[in-house]
Amino acid sequence: MFNVVKGTHDVIKEEAKKYSYIEEVMTNIAVIYGYQEFRTPVIESSDLFTRSVGDSSDIVRKEMYTFEDKGGRNITLRPEMTAGIIRSMVNAKLFAIQDYPVKAFYCGPNFRYERPQQGRYRQFNQFGIECTGVTTVERDVEVIALGYTMLKYLNFGKVKLLINTLGDEQSRENYKTALKEYFGKHIENMCSDCQERYKLNILRILDCKDPADRPIIDGAPKIQDYLTDAAKERFEKVKEYLTKLEIPFEVDQELVRGLDYYTGVVFEFHYTSQNGNNYGAIGAGGHYGNLIKEIGGPDLEGVGFAFGIERLAKVMEDDNLFPNLDNTTDIFIMPMGDKARDFAVGLAFQLRKAFYSCEVCYEQKGMGQMFKKAERRNSKLAFIIGDDEILNETVTVKKLDTKEQVSVKLDDLDDFLGKYFNSESEHHHHECECCEGDDCECKHDHEEGHCCHHHDGCCKKA
Ligand code: ATP
Ligand code: MG
Repeated sequence: MFNVVKGTHDVIKEEAKKYSYIEEVMTNIAVIYGYQEFRTPVIESSDLFTRSVGDSSDIVRKEMYTFEDKGGRNITLRPEMTAGIIRSMVNAKLFAIQDYPVKAFYCGPNFRYERPQQGRYRQFNQFGIECTGVTTVERDVEVIALGYTMLKYLNFGKVKLLINTLGDEQSRENYKTALKEYFGKHIENMCSDCQERYKLNILRILDCKDPADRPIIDGAPKIQDYLTDAAKERFEKVKEYLTKLEIPFEVDQELVRGLDYYTGVVFEFHYTSQNGNNYGAIGAGGHYGNLIKEIGGPDLEGVGFAFGIERLAKVMEDDNLFPNLDNTTDIFIMPMGDKARDFAVGLAFQLRKAFYSCEVCYEQKGMGQMFKKAERRNSKLAFIIGDDEILNETVTVKKLDTKEQVSVKLDDLDDFLGKYFNSESEHHHHECECCEGDDCECKHDHEEGHCCHHHDGCCKKA
């Protein structure tokens, strides 16, 4: 027996469908916002990350999967995707024509040697975006609005959006000096990681996840008090715009994010499910000032975020936010005997060519067992084919919901299926009844009206 490697997990069947659904919804919104897909390699030169993600981040210090390949290259499995995306933009000279912004969305696995726990894996999937060649605060807000909109379309009602600013360079220098003075008095009583962060990048201490350090961190000076006027004004603008767009947010002065490249606004989306589960931030991002230059591009800024698909799927499962994603089979063919099986080969081929999903029971089974198989596949129709049907050029069609049975001539089959599945689909896209009242129990976002049109599975009453 072989098991998955510690910290990794298989995503199969229904779960894979959920992941695809999340990615599809996010892709659709990203395209509406003008983004194009980028697919970059999973392996990159290690120095791409040491330079961009930063030597002081936990990711670079202890979480990277790094190895030397047979040609002696120092390779790392990407721990995040921003660096690779920017590298690809630089390599493809996308900044050369100076038609900004350059907008990328991406999706795929990342690798971090973390302690595995709920919502924390060693291989996990992200969906993210990068908007580069930007300086204006309007872009920052547009990107936050994009993330928020994605969550709305995934049926999230309330999400908690936390924002903070790391200010401009001058603000950060002022702030770091203040932190040095404060933590200098406490550092001996803090975790060994923080002692290292104290030396490497003191801002990092604010991101410490050790609860024992919390009281000390809570008493630290706050960035707001060290912002330059320009940085303060910019952050005020972010808040004004978010308010104008009716995107609720909270300012969290301890939010610094786990990567070194952020400057300006940073943000995280959080969600606690009905039963109290919170697997950590479901998505996070921010504005970066020096990253593109670090990676060999021009002196341009960017803003982006990434969502964790595992964490999203988990809270969405907890709160029943997924639409009905059950597999259904339009037609389940039940051949009785050799001649019928022979006939079924061609029939199934034709039906699939006409885009009906269908399955054939080639295994020799009794009727009862075949109906069980049809049921397990959520089949709509069963085609029963025996010697009589072949002789008469008909199929016996059983509607599996009403149990009604009819004989259909092969020549009329196209027509029959066309009519049956058309009226089926009307029936299918009925309005979700749960949207009628405000006090209904489904956790879908009625106000925005996202519930009805694409999810026929969301209502409990149907
Ligand atoms: P955290 O503070 O939870 O460690 P992070 O700061 O490391 O998150 P980012 O690097 O910004 O997070 O990644 C963006 C998103 O990717 C996170 O909000 C989270 O949803 C997801 N994510 C990060 N690390 C993991 C992991 N080990 N397993 C699953 N999802 C993860
Ligand atoms: Mg982390």
